[in-house]
Amino acid sequence: MDLHFLSQKSVCQSTIGMGRRRVSYACSGSTEQSTETSVLVIYTGGTIGMVLHDGVLSPEPNALFENVRKLPFMHDEQYAQNTKLYERYKPEKKILVLPKSKLDMRVVYIFLEYSPLLDSSNITPDDWVTIGKDIERNYEKYDGFVVLHGTDTMAYTASALSFMCENLGKPVIVTGSQLPIFEMRSDGRDNFVGALLIAGQFHIPEVCLYFHDKLYRGNRVTKVDSGSFKAFASPNLPPLADLESDIKINWDTVRPLSPNGKFTVCKEMNHNVGLLRIFPGITTDTVKAFLKAPMDGVILETYGCGNAPSNRKDLLDEIHKATQRGVIIVNCSQCLRGTVTISYATGQALSQAGVIVGFDMTQEAALSKLAHVLAKRDLSLEEKKKMMTKNLRGEMTAEPEGAKLSISDSRFIQIIAKTLSVGCKEELEGIRDALMPTLACAAAKNGDTEVLEAIRNMGTDLNKPDYDGRTPLHIAACQGHLNIVDYLLDKGASVFAKDRFGDTPLRNAILLRCKDAVEMLNKYGAHLSRDELQDTGTELCRLAASGDLEGLKIWKLAGVDMATSGYDGKTPVEVARAFGCKEVVDFLEAA
Ligand code: ASP
Repeated sequence: MDLHFLSQKSVCQSTIGMGRRRVSYACSGSTEQSTETSVLVIYTGGTIGMVLHDGVLSPEPNALFENVRKLPFMHDEQYAQNTKLYERYKPEKKILVLPKSKLDMRVVYIFLEYSPLLDSSNITPDDWVTIGKDIERNYEKYDGFVVLHGTDTMAYTASALSFMCENLGKPVIVTGSQLPIFEMRSDGRDNFVGALLIAGQFHIPEVCLYFHDKLYRGNRVTKVDSGSFKAFASPNLPPLADLESDIKINWDTVRPLSPNGKFTVCKEMNHNVGLLRIFPGITTDTVKAFLKAPMDGVILETYGCGNAPSNRKDLLDEIHKATQRGVIIVNCSQCLRGTVTISYATGQALSQAGVIVGFDMTQEAALSKLAHVLAKRDLSLEEKKKMMTKNLRGEMTAEPEGAKLSISDSRFIQIIAKTLSVGCKEELEGIRDALMPTLACAAAKNGDTEVLEAIRNMGTDLNKPDYDGRTPLHIAACQGHLNIVDYLLDKGASVFAKDRFGDTPLRNAILLRCKDAVEMLNKYGAHLSRDELQDTGTELCRLAASGDLEGLKIWKLAGVDMATSGYDGKTPVEVARAFGCKEVVDFLEAA
């Protein structure tokens, strides 16, 4: 914990809940408290920070930061001073903090401004890689990420990032605006604040696009309006969240974390991909020229539910020749809404020519997915084709999920509701929300998957903490109930949730020496937070002093650096030597 920055008289600090860090500070003669989270803002350019030069808009370095820091609803200078924010976040330079949110949180945000700032029409796949690398480099330091970007190619970037980010466990929110933030009427302020609030306050492990009060899955959106503030649509998936007077997250739509290990960013993209739109009378020469080498993959924009002229043998022959040469051609519809099926002869003709089905992917998602998949050198052509038809990041609609029990189907809640004489949906939901987190924690303690499943089916978010800020995953990790840890992770439980003491499930599993739980959490990309790592050296030295080899081994398993020094600057191996623990010295020297 960063206790050192606090002057004893005015400020003290501890950690808490999902919000990561509790900060107390003196304000108007009394002491106030709030919870801090941190977000990295990657500012790539776009209208949001543009200024008029000779009658045309272009991005201006530093202008956005300088403007935002003067807006009281985007930066609380008094809080920054009271809590010595700038000293705490040194050496970062561009640091701002939002006023306290409705959830009693403070989102601290740090600007990483690109140079040059770009109009998004000038963005290329190399820029996607730069953004991905910056997220990867800073992944462990922040609770979430906001990418400020122009709207023109925002859907492409959001889609590409979604495929590039493997095992993403934190929110990455892409946003921008239709009007510069400096103008009297601008959507930039709302979009920016909304994106920060989501990135800083919610465990949504996805690349999302936030615009005009709606949070969308990043690979489901497309720009549909060049003038309206409602510039984006997600035609085949409802929003992940609605930001109205309250923030309402649609947890059923949010994708859970995948169980494949640490977060990484795939940095390779195949550039030989393209979009080919079918239109009445398209010539064979056009198709032939488009499909010729070095083209590796093409999104074929077809009519309706995946149709192209079946009476054009010349055209189908060219397509067939290309697929035979190993060009991957994916059938996506020109229609905004709906999916590609092979229900017409005209669609079947394409299938026979080797074209694969793109279901309900947007063209932006399909193209960036193709660039991502085709760059995978270790996959065969067949494997790449298979990957294109697989739902990788929620970009296409999988089979309809089994019908879920609605809240009113739940006998348990019904009985309680009857006892308390409540009947309306809102009251039922209130009871559910009050009771379920505690019941879910109890089920996790008892190792009861069935009860957890029933609770989940009632629409309860299994990430909701109990009165102590502990989630079912904290409890299961402490108990060493591996099946429950596995179940919860599979259902999207966040490995980054923090309890009232600032502890993550990983730290709980380490302290209670549940080795298997540590391994499983590792698989889902868990890591100790910045605050948790603060005291680690001292703990390692304590274990070294008492010759506790097993204890040290479990910290190592969790990925902790065994050379971390304690409060007095001594390393664990120095302590072990001083105490004459040979076995421990040998282990630490080899670590
Ligand atoms: N041309 C601008 C861009 O994409 C449009 C915008 O940001 O809205 O960067």
